[in-house]
Amino acid sequence: MIDSELPHYLALSLSRNKELIRATKGFMPPDEGTGLALSLHHCELPSFLPAVEIGSYAGLSAIYLGIVAKEQGRLLISVDHHHGSEENQPGWEHHDASLIDPVSGRMDTLYLFRRTIELAGLVDSVVTVAADSKRFASVYPGKIAFLFIDGGHGMDQAQDDFNSWVPKIAPSGFLAIHDVFADPALGGRAPFLVYQKALANGFKEIMVQGSLRVMRKDPE
Ligand code: SAH
Ligand code: MG
Repeated sequence: MIDSELPHYLALSLSRNKELIRATKGFMPPDEGTGLALSLHHCELPSFLPAVEIGSYAGLSAIYLGIVAKEQGRLLISVDHHHGSEENQPGWEHHDASLIDPVSGRMDTLYLFRRTIELAGLVDSVVTVAADSKRFASVYPGKIAFLFIDGGHGMDQAQDDFNSWVPKIAPSGFLAIHDVFADPALGGRAPFLVYQKALANGFKEIMVQGSLRVMRKDPE
């Protein structure tokens, strides 16, 4: 399991960004965001291998990951079509009507994401990809050091993210999954099933923080 002590740069940067973190829309409680950052900090694969986040939304989790990526000299590639997941659409639990683009009538979080990354001073460390995650995976040829899955939580979408991105994780690389609930009464099944699939396929758990699970891929 990962040592929970925060390195100095991370504690400092989180405290400097406290107001931004508080003001940014999203779904990442501070303890889980801090755990996410700490897990990337402990990923020792070379910095030419990027970290990939599926599910940017307004950039809340990207602040946590981006701070560490910047320190490591690594790029964070954050992927989202920015039209929201099922549960973000009108009539659903996590809908925010202020995010509807009045011209298209669709949800659009892209401008918020860019604003967050600029305010956090992470422009040079974060690559913003506005695309469907599976489609982008089909043209992304390389290996990655770290994968954070926090995109669509429907069964098909979660399986697609797993199948299209997990094989790109280099040996000893990390896989983090958000919204993992063993108890179906607490949340949807798909992230939990994907998490179990990882454990059955060469990944070992190294962190549990709230609904965040982080695993390390076996060395080859
Ligand atoms: N990590 C964010 C929350 C992500 S919410 C935070 O810290 O607040 C889930 C996001 O996944 C939404 O923004 C949605 O647009 C995105 N998403 C859902 N399905 C997707 C797909 N197929 N491709 C890319 N992004 C997707
Ligand atoms: Mg989430």
